[in-house]
Amino acid sequence: MKDSLQEQLLAEIDALTPQLFAIARHIYDHPEIKFEEFEAMRVLSSALEEAGFQVKRGVAGLPTAFVARAKGQPGGPAIGLLGEYDALPEIGHGCGHHLVGTIALGAALALRKVLSQLAGQVVYCGTPAEEMAGGGKITMAEAGVFDGLDAAMLVHPSTFGRTVMEANTLCGGRVIFTFRGKSAHAAVAPHLGINALDAVLLTYNNINALRQHLRPDVRIHGEITKGRRAYDAVSDLAEAVFNVQATDYAYRQETLQKVIRCAEAGALATGATLSMDVSPTFKEMRTNFTLARAFAEHCAAFGLEVEPADHSRLSETDMGNVSHIVPAIHPFVAIVPGSIQGHTSEFAAATISEKAMVGMIVATKLMALTALDFLTQPELRAQVKQEFGAERS
Ligand SMILES: [Zn+2]
Ligand SMILES: [Zn+2]
Repeated sequence: MKDSLQEQLLAEIDALTPQLFAIARHIYDHPEIKFEEFEAMRVLSSALEEAGFQVKRGVAGLPTAFVARAKGQPGGPAIGLLGEYDALPEIGHGCGHHLVGTIALGAALALRKVLSQLAGQVVYCGTPAEEMAGGGKITMAEAGVFDGLDAAMLVHPSTFGRTVMEANTLCGGRVIFTFRGKSAHAAVAPHLGINALDAVLLTYNNINALRQHLRPDVRIHGEITKGRRAYDAVSDLAEAVFNVQATDYAYRQETLQKVIRCAEAGALATGATLSMDVSPTFKEMRTNFTLARAFAEHCAAFGLEVEPADHSRLSETDMGNVSHIVPAIHPFVAIVPGSIQGHTSEFAAATISEKAMVGMIVATKLMALTALDFLTQPELRAQVKQEFGAERS
């Protein structure tokens, strides 16, 4: 039996549906890659501003990050609703982030309508650059953007056709190794050359030798991105990129240091010089199971079956960094028809189908109802906080 606030919230989302469809479609039609999401930020933040949210753009020194805040009665908790809106190069919205941004928008706009009846705040956090090792949330977390929140939620369309509450993510990030050598004629004067390509190949082989002695949860994968020269010229520039991942932050950092030594050994052996570019570290997601249960309880009413998490599926998200600061959830909701895998053109096309649009509204309702639970149930908040505290100690 729904109470009147829930009824009101759901009716507000129904009324918002045409606007949400239009915004999702607009972001889909204007795919912008990491840190270039100006159009997505414009439409999302102006919809919030028009609805009475106080908007700050360019937070944490990121031009396409923003925070929009609406306050109810004094006191009460602050619930963070996180939106993503970056696309992938070539593929466009192959991860469905136009839906992620719009789901949080719909939930925030609907909650704003009932907020005068409650104590607390609704905070929409516009988080850019989730893809391509951008880690917008990592920069925002380091700048303290999420510090005042009592909980944070991000709802993602399932990229594997099933509804699960737990995002199984690894802690990881990429490192680029650039080796500089000295070119020379490979036949006439090889002794004058320093072979940067050999430094990369040694690095690659050193890492392969290292693998046997790492924990089984570690993933190291990479590619050689530069190194080609004429076959009879010594390569003076070569580069490789690796992603180094593990299930926890401490072991991942330890492994990264070993991988760096593999590259240093390649440089030492060949005489090439090494420089490196280490991306921000995406921490592993710590799902708050109390809050996830509250979300899952609403799923049945919408005909969604919540399935157990598949621990063999491991990915990476900067929501992990948020989950180390505040209690957080990142449910995957099966709203895109079929079981098409994410990061493909097929998935991108499916995210804009009529079924996906209907699913987006369902996901918006799930997010809004869970946020309402959090705002109105002190006992739920206490349990969420207790679980978070127990995990940190
Ligand atoms: Zn993705
Ligand atoms: Zn994604």
